[in-house]
Amino acid sequence: MEPEVTDIAVVGGGPAGLFAAKSAAERGSNVLLFESKDKIGFHEHCAGLLSVDGLEKLELTNLPSDVIQNSNIIGAHIYSPSGNLVNVSKGSTTAYVVDRVRFNQYLSSLAIEKGVKIKTSTSILNIKRNGNGVELQTGKKTLSVKTQAKIAIFAEGRFPKLNVQVKLPSPPREKVIFASMYVMSNINDIDPKFVELYQTQKFAPGFFAWIIPIDEESAKIGIGSQYSPSGKYLEKFVLKHPIAKEKLKQANIEKKTSGAIPLSSYIKRTYTDNVLIVGDAAGQTKPTTGGGVILGGIASRFAGEIAADSIVANDQSAKYLSRYEKLWKKEMKTNLFVMKHVRQYLNTLTDKETEKLFLLINKPKIKDIVSQIGDVDNQKKVVFGLLLRYNLWPFFIRTGTKYLLKK
Ligand SMILES: Cc1cc2nc3c(=O)[nH]c(=O)nc-3n(C[C@H](O)[C@H](O)[C@H](O)COP(=O)(O)OP(=O)(O)OC[C@H]3O[C@@H](n4cnc5c(N)ncnc54)[C@H](O)[C@@H]3O)c2cc1C
Repeated sequence: MEPEVTDIAVVGGGPAGLFAAKSAAERGSNVLLFESKDKIGFHEHCAGLLSVDGLEKLELTNLPSDVIQNSNIIGAHIYSPSGNLVNVSKGSTTAYVVDRVRFNQYLSSLAIEKGVKIKTSTSILNIKRNGNGVELQTGKKTLSVKTQAKIAIFAEGRFPKLNVQVKLPSPPREKVIFASMYVMSNINDIDPKFVELYQTQKFAPGFFAWIIPIDEESAKIGIGSQYSPSGKYLEKFVLKHPIAKEKLKQANIEKKTSGAIPLSSYIKRTYTDNVLIVGDAAGQTKPTTGGGVILGGIASRFAGEIAADSIVANDQSAKYLSRYEKLWKKEMKTNLFVMKHVRQYLNTLTDKETEKLFLLINKPKIKDIVSQIGDVDNQKKVVFGLLLRYNLWPFFIRTGTKYLLKK
């Protein structure tokens, strides 16, 4: 059977693949996107908390009403291990909560509008370079369906299989955070304007737990943990965390989901001849919170644009495609670097030290820094703001030295 021919093949129909495909098609390329699941958007493994600034950057401020679950998030209630509370808020809407299945389906409708062809129930298992670009195959056997493309964009998510086939790195498996989440109804005492974050090594070792409100009585409750199975930690959080258990004791579980988040930060190289890598598969997630939709989306748009430009220039060499890496690194490399060290540093703090940090941060001037310059996607601004507060220096010098010595 003759292979199907396209300019650009995108592997993976998550947000990263869909953003890349849409932006390449907008620039006039023929784009074919492969998704292994039978529908776009399944399975759902995300809380769907997206910053308003990030949505603006992705030109997604006019999301359809059935995609948005909560458009009123103005801040966060952050709990220390012993339950001390720090409230941070800018006073205006900073984030939306979206239904991730509908969000992906909306992105796919935008891509289709621009001319992207989507093939579901199609897993790409092999990729081979040839004189005309790359051949993508659904298997090794003769029954394999083949597609010939000038360039392939890999957007396989957190456990990519194709990166290694083109000798590019993958996010290290041993550095993922395991995450589990429930959607629950009939919850007590939540404020639909505030997400709740629980910094607690006991219930969420190596990460944190969250309650992300959908409305006054329903929310997405989740934890991330460096240990698997994360479901056990979530169960313990819901039943035993002194503050959360009171809110959740009459609540019902409507939905369960789980996934993994690559926390090692970005991979060393995201391009080679005829190939670009985007999204979780490239480690383009925030190591502090695990959020990957916005940063992966921004990088993926660059990938789509450069891939389309390479078709016009008739040049899919690694040298040409390196423009993609320059663009996305310029946008977010320092931020990802800072976030990676913040996450690793926070993980070295004992619960006692975390308590002390909460006491220091819960002072009006310092809370203002976190609230006012607290950009959920660009957290380096907060870190640099805090480093300028000389009264935090003794704490940072002591705990920072311990962190550096551990490395
Ligand atoms: C519990 C949890 C909560 C989260 N909460 C948030 C949040 O609130 N906000 C946020 O921004 N991020 C959040 N994230 C992270 C976010 O979900 C990811 O960063 C984002 O989905 C990454 O998008 P992606 O397109 O790179 O990968 P994915 O969304 O994983 O999509 C990859 C797609 O590729 C398909 N695929 C894989 N291999 C192949 C193949 N060989 N052939 C064909 N198809 C293939 C898969 O089926 C999948 O559909 C969360 C993650 C978890 C686990």
